[in-house]
Amino acid sequence: MRNKRFRLKMLVCIVVWCLFAGLLCTSSAVASQRCFKCCGSGLWHTDNKVPCSGKGCSYCIKCTGCGGSGQIPDSAKRCETCKGLGQVHNSKKICTGAGCSNCNPCKICNAKGWVGG
Ligand SMILES: [Zn+2]
Ligand SMILES: [Zn+2]
Ligand SMILES: [Zn+2]
Ligand SMILES: [Zn+2]
Repeated sequence: MRNKRFRLKMLVCIVVWCLFAGLLCTSSAVASQRCFKCCGSGLWHTDNKVPCSGKGCSYCIKCTGCGGSGQIPDSAKRCETCKGLGQVHNSKKICTGAGCSNCNPCKICNAKGWVGG
């Protein structure tokens, strides 16, 4: 009799633990990671010929990969086609980076640099 009660207690304990672990799992699923395009800064420097002056830089625009938040869903995967840049270079000339005129927006990830999420 006593043993049975103990087992019930254990069962309740396990159920509570499972719920707790499940809660932890779901909260980590909605957690975010740093944006591949802007490395979490939320800003996207569009001209590699001009060094970025940081905050207030006139060549910086709001990052299109994350909408300026710097964070993307944790389940998001780096786009293989554009290597997370959101654009694909289509010329023999050297790519100048984010604002390159010979780059086309990546169709696979919608120029976000990541897929899924
Ligand atoms: Zn800049
Ligand atoms: Zn970003
Ligand atoms: Zn892409
Ligand atoms: Zn380019």
